[in-house]
Order: sequence, then C-alpha cells, then structure tokens
Amino acid sequence: MGSPPRKTFWHYTPPLPVKLSPYYNWPPKPVASLIYLLKSWNPVGWRFLMFLMAIAIWHFATPPLNEIANGGFNWILIVAARNLVILLTIAGGLHLWLLVWRRQQDDGRYDTRSMNKRASLFHFSSQLKDNIFWSLFAWVFWSFWECLILWAYASDIAPMITPATHPVVFFLMIVLVPIWAGVHFYWFHRLLHVGPLFTHVHSWHHKNTNTGPWSGLAMHPVESFFLFFDTMIFFILPGHPVLAIFLLLHHGVGAPVSHAGFEYLTIKDRKVPLGDFFHQLHHRFFDCNYGTWDTPWDQWFGTFHDGTEEGNTLINRRRKTLSQRQ
Ligand SMILES: [Zn+2]
Ligand SMILES: [Zn+2]
Repeated sequence: MGSPPRKTFWHYTPPLPVKLSPYYNWPPKPVASLIYLLKSWNPVGWRFLMFLMAIAIWHFATPPLNEIANGGFNWILIVAARNLVILLTIAGGLHLWLLVWRRQQDDGRYDTRSMNKRASLFHFSSQLKDNIFWSLFAWVFWSFWECLILWAYASDIAPMITPATHPVVFFLMIVLVPIWAGVHFYWFHRLLHVGPLFTHVHSWHHKNTNTGPWSGLAMHPVESFFLFFDTMIFFILPGHPVLAIFLLLHHGVGAPVSHAGFEYLTIKDRKVPLGDFFHQLHHRFFDCNYGTWDTPWDQWFGTFHDGTEEGNTLINRRRKTLSQRQ
C-alpha cells in the first residue's frame, strides 16, 4: 500500500502526502468530517481498543469508589500495579515483538537505522535503558493523576455522570476525550519547544530521533508530570472514571504505540495500525508537526510537514525566515 521507499530518509512511509482530518477545512466539510470521525473509531484502531480497555479496566481492575472513599493505600497500590502491567505489556510487548524477536523484520518500519547509534547521548549510554527508566517516572505520574481523579469522584468533588443518567452527554464526552487529548497535547508540546523549556526539559524526549515503543513516555519528569495533567478537565466537565481512564490511556498506551516506529503490527496476515508517521516526522525534523492528525494548528501556523519533498522545502524555508528575523 505505501509509497515507494524513500532512500534518503525513510524505509517505509504511509501514502504521502500525509493528510490531516477535514474537521477544520474551510468551507466546512460536514460529511467528510463525519466519515473521518467514524473511521477514527474503527474497531481495530487504537482509539476504539483503548475505549474498550478503559471499560474493562474500570470494571475489573479498579477498586470501587466506596472503597476509595474509605481511605487507606491499598486502592492506590492496585491502580499503580495495574498501570505498570499495562505499560510492561504494551511497551515491553511491542519492543520484544518488533525489535528483539523482529517478528515482522522491517515490514512497515519507518526508519531502519540502529537505535544504538547515538547511545552516548542517552542516560546509562543506552537508548533502551534510558527510555525504560524515564518511562517509569511517567508511570508514577500516570497513576498519581488517575488516583487524584478517582479520589475526587469517590469524594463527590468532581462532577460525575453515568450512561444511565445522562446518555447523550456521556456519549458526547466519549467523542470529546480524544479531541481534548489532542488539544492539550498540541499546546503543551508547543510550549515545550520554547527556549529553556526545550533545552532543559523536552530535549530529553528528542534524543530519540529514531523511536521505539519505549520512547513514547521517555521524557524529563517535568514533562511526564504535566503530560497526564489533562485529566484534570474532569474537575470541571461532567465525567466518569471510564472517561478519565480512557483519557489517561491516550498517553499511557497511546504514546508507546505511536512511537513504535512501525506503521502497523503484522499478526499472521492481519495488519493492525500502529505508529504515527505525523509524529515520526516531528522526531526527525523537530520544528514541525507539533500536534496530531486531528489538530489544525500546524497547518494554520505553517508548521505542517506532509512527509513529501515539498514538505521539506516548506519547513526549510520557514527555518530560514525565522533565523533571518533573529
Ligand atoms: Zn514523541
Ligand atoms: Zn517535540
């Protein structure tokens, strides 16, 4: 399906140019937008899988709210332990499958350069050890923010709805969660690219010019602390633990998956969508594609790289203009 291999940069790319969602097209395209939205929820895509995971986690791996309201620390340990299991399964499993056992060789892999090449840049002189170590900090913060919102629901501090009491609002919130995750991600990420915040904080994540599943959450602890902060929206908007868990999974699961470095996971003859070429371009070129396929600001602010040669030219021209202004 993909375009022919690009010898200079990429081993594999999805069909180019990269296309953004039609949500923000002018004049508006309501039908195309609706079709795109429905497709983004396709049953083998990660958005839908993460939603199913959130339901399963809430029902089978989260202490009930009355137990949380009673206090103690056991429930915190349960939340943290299950998040660790999820992280190890997703990031660890993908790493083993794709990079250690190499079950699909380089099929669908964006960048085939060895991940050990720039090892001395990383903590412990190893990209993998560095990535796992800092991902564990992200796991702690993931669990911290989750416990905070669960406690808020248990204590009647955060406004809680259920599918039975508010079916329409609940449904709208399900649709809103991925959109909100993209909004928070763009603006937080864009801020991290400014001056000292980039030098001292975000540059740690950008050591990963070639990414693997463990790179997704490998970042300075200040970054991972605020990455999961978007869950605090549920202190204001009507929500439910399933929705909060779903939002948190966008980072806890979404980041390892989107940084996998492979467009898809091949299991037998099935291809499960995996990586995020849009974000892969960001890791390669740094000053483009700060958001996601679903967010409009890269296009509006001239930082969108569509993966083509013309995209390279555009980004280079922008760099030149910016450096001339300084
Ligand atoms: Zn990244
Ligand atoms: Zn960045």
